[in-house]
Amino acid sequence: MTDTILGDLPTTDLELHGQRLLAWIATYLEHPERYPVVSPLAPGDVRRSLPPAPPAAGEGLEVILRDFESKILPGITHWNHPGFFAYFSISASIPGILGELLTAALDVNGMLWKTSPAATELEELTLDWLRQLLGLQAGWFGLINDTASISTMLALAAAREAKPELAIRSRGMAGRPDLPVLRVYCSEHAHSSVDKGALTLGIGLDNVVHIASDAEFRMRPDALEAAIAADVAAGYLPLACVATVGTTSTTSIDPVEAIARICTAARMWLHIDGAYGGVAAVSPRFRHVLDGVELADSLVVNPHKWLFTPIDCSAFYTRHPHVLKRAFSLVPEYLVTREQDEVVNLMDYGVQLGRRFRALKLWMVIRAFGAEGLAARLERHCELAQQFAQWVTAAEGWELCAPVPFSLVCFRFAPPGTSEAECEQLNSAILHRVNGSGEAYLSHTKLSGRYVLRLAIGNIRTEERHLARAWDLLREAAATP
Ligand code: PLP
Repeated sequence: MTDTILGDLPTTDLELHGQRLLAWIATYLEHPERYPVVSPLAPGDVRRSLPPAPPAAGEGLEVILRDFESKILPGITHWNHPGFFAYFSISASIPGILGELLTAALDVNGMLWKTSPAATELEELTLDWLRQLLGLQAGWFGLINDTASISTMLALAAAREAKPELAIRSRGMAGRPDLPVLRVYCSEHAHSSVDKGALTLGIGLDNVVHIASDAEFRMRPDALEAAIAADVAAGYLPLACVATVGTTSTTSIDPVEAIARICTAARMWLHIDGAYGGVAAVSPRFRHVLDGVELADSLVVNPHKWLFTPIDCSAFYTRHPHVLKRAFSLVPEYLVTREQDEVVNLMDYGVQLGRRFRALKLWMVIRAFGAEGLAARLERHCELAQQFAQWVTAAEGWELCAPVPFSLVCFRFAPPGTSEAECEQLNSAILHRVNGSGEAYLSHTKLSGRYVLRLAIGNIRTEERHLARAWDLLREAAATP
């Protein structure tokens, strides 16, 4: 065999199919509504449509891309569809998609500064830009992870390392009668990633204390203080607290300043989970949502949730990079470089070694939209949410179930005289019907035991007409016996 047979496909294939693919993507983004927002397929349909074993001989891109369209695409739930209102709605913007394409083409591994100086330096610069956009002071060190779940886990690991006397890095946690039980606090509405981080680190799920919230689903500082006092009296060691700016169920905002004061007094690490809501601070109108964050030790915001950057891109900030580095840095001989004392080597700040060049797409998104363009889009989403909330409030039988500080509305159909159990059945049926329409996709949650619908606006292509259509569908479903 010659090397020409063994090498990559000819670059003429890239040009030919690349051009076609870009044209396909342009049409797709122009008309995402041509597809049902939720994939109508049943479990196993995609697998069954594809050969169970890999091909022995290579196949042409033509046929592979045809199969993509006929077999993969039907199994896609279209997060780019403007009628996608479930979970936290996200979308890929054009600069973000182009950045992702370049990242794949360059295929650099940014584990060390040396392995691609631009990957490290653009990540440092872009996260410093994002810090400025969020209105945070200088002095925050940022790095990009895949998800907020990983960022929060790193925060808890740093919190542990911030107490070097525990010597957990070297001695671990098992079989140590000298080690007190470590406790982590978050509100009952905090994301499950806090619990996952604690279980990953061996802190144990039982040691994540879920603090009661107030009537607007915000952590109660008095309840936090009482829980810490009770734990200290029982011989536990309060380690960290996670406050949320934009909780998953309702987007409530924990009172960060009051929580920070309690954390300082208890010598605890304070991490802020602003995965969704934190980015709103890019708009001067919403800057206040990060009030008090300067008092925290770490913060996560997800540009892949609400800053039009293709998944994955989670920005993690800490004011104590040396602590994070102490928790994770381990340099085997083959990764030693001459300049390691002068530069940031991103592998030193987390579990993973290999690292995608994610900063490129975020940098391109920030440049293409600018601070004003980003803020205007976020503000529009919040206006649309207010509009929807007004429709709900004005409609007979419908009720708003939580305040609307950002772009998420929690609501339900609760005609007078309906019991809680009937209400749950009714709203679950409405959700099922609307999600089966192919035109809108919403999700649900439970608030104080009550089943409620969630409508999240975060898609860059969502306009008022899409919202109006979802509202029509909801009311039609409610009117159908
Ligand atoms: N934190 C909050 C408040 C969330 O709403 C979510 C997901 O929706 C997460 C964390 C987890 O995000 P990720 O998927 O980036 O791990």
